[in-house]
Amino acid sequence: MKAYVLQGVGQLEYKDVPLPDLKPGWVLVRTAAAGICQSDIPRIFQTGTYHFPTVPGHEFAGTVTDVYGEESRAWLGKRVGVFPLIPCRSCPSCANKLYEMCRHYDYLGSRRNGGFAEYAAVPVECLVELPDNVTFAEAAMLEPMAVAVHAMRRAFPEMKYTGSRTKPVKESLGYAGKQALEKKTGQQMEQRTGPTGQTPQTPAEPIEQRAETETPQTPTGPIEQTTETPQTPQTPTESIEQTTGTPADSIGETPHTPTAPIEKSGRGDEAAAAPDTAGTVVVCGLGTIGLLLLMMLLERRAGQEGSHNPERLRARDNGTDAVGAGPGDSVILAIGNKDYQKQMVLELGLPEDAYCDSREQDVSQWLMERSGKQGADIFFECVGKNETLRLAVDNAAPGGRVCLVGNPYSDMLLEKSVYWKILRNQLYITGTWNSSFTGEPDDDWAYVLELLSRRRIVPEKLITHRFSVDELEKGFQIMRDKAEDYVKIMAFPS
Ligand SMILES: [Zn+2]
Ligand SMILES: [Zn+2]
Repeated sequence: MKAYVLQGVGQLEYKDVPLPDLKPGWVLVRTAAAGICQSDIPRIFQTGTYHFPTVPGHEFAGTVTDVYGEESRAWLGKRVGVFPLIPCRSCPSCANKLYEMCRHYDYLGSRRNGGFAEYAAVPVECLVELPDNVTFAEAAMLEPMAVAVHAMRRAFPEMKYTGSRTKPVKESLGYAGKQALEKKTGQQMEQRTGPTGQTPQTPAEPIEQRAETETPQTPTGPIEQTTETPQTPQTPTESIEQTTGTPADSIGETPHTPTAPIEKSGRGDEAAAAPDTAGTVVVCGLGTIGLLLLMMLLERRAGQEGSHNPERLRARDNGTDAVGAGPGDSVILAIGNKDYQKQMVLELGLPEDAYCDSREQDVSQWLMERSGKQGADIFFECVGKNETLRLAVDNAAPGGRVCLVGNPYSDMLLEKSVYWKILRNQLYITGTWNSSFTGEPDDDWAYVLELLSRRRIVPEKLITHRFSVDELEKGFQIMRDKAEDYVKIMAFPS
């Protein structure tokens, strides 16, 4: 079969390779669509990946053409999407189905071969069957869409997960229970650098969360942990999924470090302390994830208007209630810095007045004018630059939430006057990472598939370039050189 094989940094070859071997529980997927993630660019051209040769590509979909063993036979011929993360299923995060925080995961397209090939080997546990009306192109965007949904659910307290994600084992025990558990397993909760003492709720040990190949370090504090520069060749970029702030170079695999709040008993309860209704929601940074996040926020607001407040919706249709107030009435604002981002934002349905071009406007002033001088109740920072982190903290409303989405470009520094606002405004600052794929009916992937099958979202609007797979090289170059405006660049079989 043909595949793009990364032989070394900057050495991507399109060539004939043997079909992937299957092992028990794995299937062969014939690739029908594969998107380039912003994180693929440094992986291919700058930092490399964990080992060579590797076939990159973690955003893909296709048809199952072969299986290993009888038990997987039912998948033959199925149209599937692919969750690229293969969790270890034995670490504390995995025990709580928080697979995105697995300490020892494998990953299609970075740690093992992925989808920029005619065929890819995929474990059955990573497959999701596609509804008939979901296209392969849409399915190849499931991963970045799920990342966007995950960020949204980190920031909205009411969007709880069901299932075991809401009841992490250790946190559901009292202090005595924890002591007993520690005694039994020989773990020390306080000993945070050891590989076994980590719980997903402890925000102090981000290093091991996604880099079993990297030298473990003893974290000294959340800020200092981001000092690894993206150029370090030993830091392969996994994080791809999240990136994409405005200017696009995505960055290394530095894990996000949530600084507050510590989750007390799962995502749901952690969030429950925050206000239930968002007044002003800001998305800053309109790369792929920022735009998809905007799409999800708009869909959610429209859905709330329709399903939760039919009376108001009728009133609005009758022209008797133009604005109103209710759960669906959040003001959604977007901040970008490129002309095509504005076009995309309008295309997604945001009014022109809700878009701020940071090149032309004083963002803080613009935001204050549109939020009754309160600031943002929820601020999604999707860039990863110091100036936008500062903007987020500085412009969050009292009791507001800042969700850090963009992979960091650099160390982050906050002036004391801005830092004060975290305290005085009692801000909730949270990180988000990857997406939840648990098999529960309301995980992030199921959430996206539901919207797709109901035609509530149209992500294909964001596909700006389509190439046949043998021409995909052009796509990599466009993204590397920023030679043209682009959002999602996708390859299809020739
Ligand atoms: Zn794990
Ligand atoms: Zn990605």
